[in-house]
Amino acid sequence: MARVDAIVLGAGIVGTSAALQLARRGLAVAQVDRRGPGEETSYGNAGVIGGAGVYPTPFPRRLGTLLRVALKLSPEANYHLSALPRLAPWLWAYFRESHPARLEAAARALRPLMARSVAEHEALAREARAEQFLRKNGWISVYRTDAAFKALAPQLELGAELGVRFRTLDVAGARALEPGLAPVFRHAVHWPDIASVSNPFALTRAYAARFAELGGVLLRGDARSLHRNGRNWRVDTAEGPVDSPEVVVALGPWSVDVLAPLGLRLPLAVKRGYHRHYRPRGTARLERPVVDAEIGYVLAPMEQGIRLTTGAEFAARDAPPTPVQFRRLMPYATALFPLGEPVEAQPWMGARPCFPDMRPVIGRTPGQPGLWLDCGHNHFGLTLGPVSGRLLAEMMTGEAPFCDPAPFAAERFAA
Ligand SMILES: Cc1cc2nc3c(=O)[nH]c(=O)nc-3n(C[C@H](O)[C@H](O)[C@H](O)COP(=O)(O)OP(=O)(O)OC[C@H]3O[C@@H](n4cnc5c(N)ncnc54)[C@H](O)[C@@H]3O)c2cc1C
Repeated sequence: MARVDAIVLGAGIVGTSAALQLARRGLAVAQVDRRGPGEETSYGNAGVIGGAGVYPTPFPRRLGTLLRVALKLSPEANYHLSALPRLAPWLWAYFRESHPARLEAAARALRPLMARSVAEHEALAREARAEQFLRKNGWISVYRTDAAFKALAPQLELGAELGVRFRTLDVAGARALEPGLAPVFRHAVHWPDIASVSNPFALTRAYAARFAELGGVLLRGDARSLHRNGRNWRVDTAEGPVDSPEVVVALGPWSVDVLAPLGLRLPLAVKRGYHRHYRPRGTARLERPVVDAEIGYVLAPMEQGIRLTTGAEFAARDAPPTPVQFRRLMPYATALFPLGEPVEAQPWMGARPCFPDMRPVIGRTPGQPGLWLDCGHNHFGLTLGPVSGRLLAEMMTGEAPFCDPAPFAAERFAA
């Protein structure tokens, strides 16, 4: 039986970053996962670091959009009818949190984390000798209609107030940055401080390798074996049981599997998403990720090809994949950029772990001494992994937290 200073459950980008941040502070850390680092949700994201702009990703509130989604005509979202009764309370809470005033509050609460997200990745990537995966040339959002671009105004105003840099572009300006884009849009915004990665899986593995260099161990095991053992927590692993006074739950979409048996019911749901790589036709290139904002997909240049990622699918986490959004969005995507043959036979699927207020939970678990939470990073887990890990490690080791952790406390769901 081994005893360590901290156990981290989960080896996605969030758990790996937390484990590394703790190991950097001199703690003996054991990480437990049933798979290798970064093989689940963290494998397949769009690789964008720094958020999508200023706001997190809201529930659509325009009637036209809602109708298109309801009729399954919209490329940006899909749903399983059978999942809706269980999801209804969560969807209602998400809808309320997407009211413009609440959305602005969420953006303000997230800003300290977002503002440090690139710098924290840079610090870890430097140590992990993984800087070759980081690109620092921003990302571009394109708008096909004047109405959609005009609707961006409050977000840009808030961005200007919060110090988020952006540059609005006409078609020629956008094509000067990305000549491969066809002029099927009318407006664009370049967000220069947003970074991106060319292989999110390799980045997570590099952070995991750095964690191992610092003496951290990754053990195979089922996190659901977590239980109290006297004053410690215990997890059973392939190497035998491990005990620790401190445990971090960083299991992304599976966090509820460990928390519910302990009596902790957090409103965590998933927004599933898909990706597929395509070879560019001819000599076409993309230098940075591009989001087709109204259609709801991202084209991101990756080592494997141009990664097309879809928007949300509201379905049970473990239901079989239904990648119908590709059929709806491919005409738009191929018109915007010359996508050629797909690289894989089937799309990849992942599940974004989401709280309705679009913020993660980072901090103590109410009523469970020594149990810490770092989960629910929704559309921004790659972005926020290292910075959340830092905030958590500061709280766990008694350092002064670099920002106020209150907006991320689990207690906000207690009412
Ligand atoms: C299509 C798509 C595009 C995205 N694009 C972006 C983007 O551009 N930028 C961005 O910042 N974010 C993006 N995201 C979101 C981001 O990928 C996620 O927020 C993030 O990967 C969540 O990381 P995680 O470590 O919390 O979860 P995961 O990566 O899922 O890790 C959880 C780990 O827990 C382990 N686990 C689960 N159950 C058990 C168990 N019982 N026992 C042991 N281990 C267990 C799993 O094996 C896994 O390794 C995107 C997501 C999707 C789906």
